[in-house]
Amino acid sequence: MPATAELERMLRGASLRVTRPRVAVLSAVHDHPHADTNAITASVRAGLGEVSQQAVYDVLGALTAAGLVRRIYPPGSVARYEARVGDNHHHLVCRSCGAIADVDCAVGSAPCLAADDHHGYTVDEAEVVFWGLCPACSTTTRST
Ligand SMILES: [Zn+2]
Ligand SMILES: [Zn+2]
Repeated sequence: MPATAELERMLRGASLRVTRPRVAVLSAVHDHPHADTNAITASVRAGLGEVSQQAVYDVLGALTAAGLVRRIYPPGSVARYEARVGDNHHHLVCRSCGAIADVDCAVGSAPCLAADDHHGYTVDEAEVVFWGLCPACSTTTRST
């Protein structure tokens, strides 16, 4: 987990003014990869006291726009946030409990997969989600 000074440096590097809510939200996203807004808000409140969900949402929007945070939308889930940005990694999602894990990009750079026919589109990203059961859920399934 990055120290406060490091988080402040990231904010300044992205030309964002350093505020306590921004530092707290960025810290929460680093601590809880793939957390949703509710979980991030709970974590921020634990450190800062009362903060509105809307304030957290606004900060997440600013951090996402600045490229410090990546917003992902696993199908069937609310938006999740993570601090691992810029590497085009993909996600494993557990069908049973919804746990999310990172998997490195298969090719190393976007769009990772090459479509057979681009239909003339300029493709810069392919969204890949690997579905299955996490180790905990597959163990449960086997033992019942
Ligand atoms: Zn699971
Ligand atoms: Zn991820």
